[in-house]
Amino acid sequence: MSQPRMPGRNFLFVPGPTNVPDRVMRAMMVAMEDHRSSKFPELTLWLFGALKKVFKTTSGQVFIFPSSGTGGWEAALSNTLSPGDKVLAPRFGQFSHLWIDLAQRIGFDVAIQDEEWGTGASPERIEEALRADRKHSIKAVLIVHNETATGVTSDVGVVRRAIDAAGHPAMLCVDGVSSIGSIDFRMDDWGVDLGVTGSQKGLMLPAGLGIVCASPKALAAHKNARCARTYFDFADHMKANATGYFPYTPSLPMLYGLRESLNILFEERLNRVFERHQVLAEGVRAAVKAWGLRLCAKEPKWYSNTVSAVMVPAGINGADVIDIAFRRYNLALGAGLSKVAGKLFRVGHLGDLNDLMVLGALAGAEMAMRDVGIDVPLGSGVAAAQAHFRATIMAKDKAPTETERFAEIHPEGVINTWAGGK
Ligand code: PLP
Repeated sequence: MSQPRMPGRNFLFVPGPTNVPDRVMRAMMVAMEDHRSSKFPELTLWLFGALKKVFKTTSGQVFIFPSSGTGGWEAALSNTLSPGDKVLAPRFGQFSHLWIDLAQRIGFDVAIQDEEWGTGASPERIEEALRADRKHSIKAVLIVHNETATGVTSDVGVVRRAIDAAGHPAMLCVDGVSSIGSIDFRMDDWGVDLGVTGSQKGLMLPAGLGIVCASPKALAAHKNARCARTYFDFADHMKANATGYFPYTPSLPMLYGLRESLNILFEERLNRVFERHQVLAEGVRAAVKAWGLRLCAKEPKWYSNTVSAVMVPAGINGADVIDIAFRRYNLALGAGLSKVAGKLFRVGHLGDLNDLMVLGALAGAEMAMRDVGIDVPLGSGVAAAQAHFRATIMAKDKAPTETERFAEIHPEGVINTWAGGK
């Protein structure tokens, strides 16, 4: 017998797809139009420019593919490398594993650096491997910035420094699928050559777009890259994109939705978006501590601000927590994948979210955990997160305003001269 519909909204707390804001949904309800009209480039050229701001690049080139993040992975690698090329890739979770699998299936020779799940990319080991590669046969280093399976964020800036310290010319390719738009990502500052994301996480859209940003070095590599490609070929896109078009029929609703979601991010301001994600993540981590449980991420330096993977006690199946949360409380939590299947559940805390929404998810997780026999005191995690959210808001409210700070630095009141010296 099918279950009756549950009233109210489903609490979507998987780490992607994330909630699509109403504004974005409305923006996607468009009549179809001619994607070869003279007006169409107004939309697309704006999107390319706006996405560069999200990737934090001035010199990079953005590509928008009708795919998901996986298509972005394939586009990035097949456009810049040749079959048989060697690439170096740390593996510490299901998504770093899947990117490696894709690279192997395209025909690259992948040197895998296995790290313990719950940790991330090791700059020391990367530097060591690159120093040992005197002939520079390694053409690219593949890093998953935020490993969604374990809730681990690696420090891409430090990986860049390791590559530079080794004096190695390999390209730096970064999967930002569950970081971009939620955790700071700096294409130019970190010297990222290929950045990849998808639409259904920080960009708050349905799945359907794979977005790649390529540095000038990656575009130069493209000229000699011999992997077979047609649908994802950068060259076709560069030719059509230059004047605001696509080499094939684009998904109009997704593009209009993307315009709205980028506007929402810019209205909040990217830095504030990152701060909000940090505060929400800290609230979730405070809850996990209050429950007496631990995260899959081994140390604070690995903690992710977009997803927390919560280890369940021995003898409990994490999948049961997820199923009960879904069926009884209308709460969707993320499953443990591959090696950690059954050992954890994941709370995605990214996208269009606020404090109270997170508190609702924590309350639901507590009930589901109790239902399967985990001895967490009801309300303990919620209270810890509430305390953190309140303390953060109070500190913000007490912080001096810009005018007050200026008056402190310039007690002579220079600020008055701005108003005509009055
Ligand atoms: N990379 C990471 C870090 C992810 O979290 C995911 C999906 O969750 C992917 C890649 C694959 O993206 P998609 O499912 O959009 O193809």
